[in-house]
Amino acid sequence: MKKTIWIATSNAHKVEEFQTMLKDCDVKCLKDLDHTIHIIEDGTTFEENALIKARTLFNELHEPVISDDSGLEVDAMDKKPGVYSARFLGEDTSYDIKNQYIIDQVQGKVRTARYVCVIAYIDEDGKEHVYRGECEGLIHDKLEGENGFGYDPIFYYPAFKTTLANVSEEKKNSVSHRGIALEKFLKDWSK
Ligand code: IMP
Repeated sequence: MKKTIWIATSNAHKVEEFQTMLKDCDVKCLKDLDHTIHIIEDGTTFEENALIKARTLFNELHEPVISDDSGLEVDAMDKKPGVYSARFLGEDTSYDIKNQYIIDQVQGKVRTARYVCVIAYIDEDGKEHVYRGECEGLIHDKLEGENGFGYDPIFYYPAFKTTLANVSEEKKNSVSHRGIALEKFLKDWSK
């Protein structure tokens, strides 16, 4: 029988990504619950937020759960937007505006930045595990590329000599923060 793993998200994109990586598992998410649960993401680090999400769901189910929390850290902006990446400048503000704002902020300053992803996994015994993936890059001087999402049009990846919005999903996943964190999790999961 297939192993079931729950993901503390209702984001279809994330569920699909995890299902692709966890081919032999039955991946379920918040939408598969017969009731609604509210998760208050009020942590100040990626680790805290990932664990808050995973613990909330584990306490409902007492079955293995995973969750992730990710974002962009811009060095010239004191590592902002960080854990507030989704809410930065307002949840409903377009990424064209958010991205242009960041370009303006780093003008004449150091352009280094990184994507961070932390996956939290709570196993069937309730033991907590966290896996961190980071992807180092630079803030580009303009928006470039149509692929990916969020901050990808300004996230210049030096080895690719272009932004992550200008490469295929497969190529991005091979170096991305999420890909790295997932790989670390998969090593434990498949033991
Ligand atoms: P989360 O869903 O709470 O983890 O929020 C993650 C937020 O960080 C997203 O809404 C984006 O703003 C940003 N982010 C995380 N990973 C990526 C990525 O791979 N590309 C672009 N933006 C990302």
